[in-house]
Amino acid sequence: MKTFKLQVFANRCGNCGLEFESLVLPGDYEPILYVSRAGVMRYLDPDEDPVWTETKGLIKAAIKGRRVSESSEAELFHHLLARTIDAPAEGDSFASAWEKPPCPRCGGTTRTYFGPVDPPRFKEVSIAPVTHKRWESLPPAEKAAEAERVVQEKLDLHQ
Ligand SMILES: [Zn+2]
Repeated sequence: MKTFKLQVFANRCGNCGLEFESLVLPGDYEPILYVSRAGVMRYLDPDEDPVWTETKGLIKAAIKGRRVSESSEAELFHHLLARTIDAPAEGDSFASAWEKPPCPRCGGTTRTYFGPVDPPRFKEVSIAPVTHKRWESLPPAEKAAEAERVVQEKLDLHQ
């Protein structure tokens, strides 16, 4: 467990219009804060997490021979990375850190408003690191197949 000082953000859901507050790790990008569909938080530290590098390599291999922009590659990487993380509970899951945390009412990830509350408020929260037990138990061929699925599902949307 690590203690983080998170900033309170105001959200308005782009799907159902619900207004709610969420917690955001302010400042730089690392470590990465994940919020599950049920609202459970985990953090991932790229410098300490071996799956980070592994996932990068798998996406590189899966897009070989295709024309993929750097930002698309990063997006694919984050989708696969999210799938390597153990769900906090049965039926719950983590989405890509590039998506907004799901709306507590409808699960939507679009926002018509997203920004720090004014005046700023902060909250100290103890958060556990992500685990990758299910992912680590997979044979290499299955990991490569998962990377291939991510590329097919996500890349085809843009092309
Ligand atoms: Zn909503």
